[in-house]
Amino acid sequence: MAGEFDLIDRIRARIVARDDVVLGIGDDAALLQPPAGMQLVVAMDTLNAGIHFPHDTVPADIGWKALAVNLSDLAAMGATPAWCTLSLSLPEPDVAWVDAFLDGFDALARQHAVALVGGDTTRGPLSVCVTVFGFVSPDRALRRDGSRVGDDVWVSGTPGDAAAALAQWSSGRARDPALRARLDRPTPRVALGLRLSGFANAAIDISDGLLADLAHVCRASAVCAEIDIDALPVSDALRAAASEPDTRRTLQASGGDDYELCFTAPVSRRAAIAAAALDAGVSVSRIGRLVEGQGVVATAGGALWAPVRAGWDHFAG
Ligand code: ADP
Ligand code: MG
Repeated sequence: MAGEFDLIDRIRARIVARDDVVLGIGDDAALLQPPAGMQLVVAMDTLNAGIHFPHDTVPADIGWKALAVNLSDLAAMGATPAWCTLSLSLPEPDVAWVDAFLDGFDALARQHAVALVGGDTTRGPLSVCVTVFGFVSPDRALRRDGSRVGDDVWVSGTPGDAAAALAQWSSGRARDPALRARLDRPTPRVALGLRLSGFANAAIDISDGLLADLAHVCRASAVCAEIDIDALPVSDALRAAASEPDTRRTLQASGGDDYELCFTAPVSRRAAIAAAALDAGVSVSRIGRLVEGQGVVATAGGALWAPVRAGWDHFAG
């Protein structure tokens, strides 16, 4: 059976090299050299087995997702990721599990040139906690409190896919691998966040559902969002999985775990946003407007709309 230090050696063997890591894994703490004049951006997210991922999630997907959800927070700030730390709690020191976990973690770390610079390895219920560090120029961060009345409300990608996968998984039938990939391997919208940081007024990543997360922006910015649920793009997989319109809309509007970006920007920036999205290789959709007031007002088919509570049985049939 492997010990803690065997595991740390295996982790250390896989890390991305960066010039700004003066001292990485192996000492009491890491020494890092941030670029002059930049602000440090820090975010942390924990994944607990059975709560933040289904029990049948393979280790490589847990590794990917643990980093992805954190990079998504940096994306929503318009920051460039650089470093991360990893706290691993494992029921037993399982080398095969750690190697498989690192396959997923490392694949995403390499895509974004993120160096793992330290962490902690302990015995306990399966839990993975990552902290990411990145940089942003002063005054360019995409904060939640920057929205203005008159802004357009935008969303990236096709929200609802991850929640559809979760609903399919809970119902135990008709599981679509394309949807499951959206749940297990979310794509953090780092490139989009970076390109938006010049001219979007506010951004948030959709981890808890579009309506809930947009409400955070509205509260922080003291504005009201009017959004058209039918303006949300629908993936082919979601359309096939949820044929009943209100079930589908509920997944799109309230489903969590998508890690898409919701952002607001002046009307005058529409062309720039389309260009930024093209550059970043992700679709964006304009779904509403900010007005005076508070909260989020959703409409569908011209009438006020609220999520349905009992829609999940549609997945059983
Ligand atoms: P300490 O006793 O000083 O806390 P540890 O024995 O916990 O040191 O860790 C030794 C080194 O390995 C440290 O540099 C630490 O950051 C690193 N480390 C431990 N666990 C992990 C991990 N899961 N991922 C990355 N680095 C780790
Ligand atoms: Mg330690």
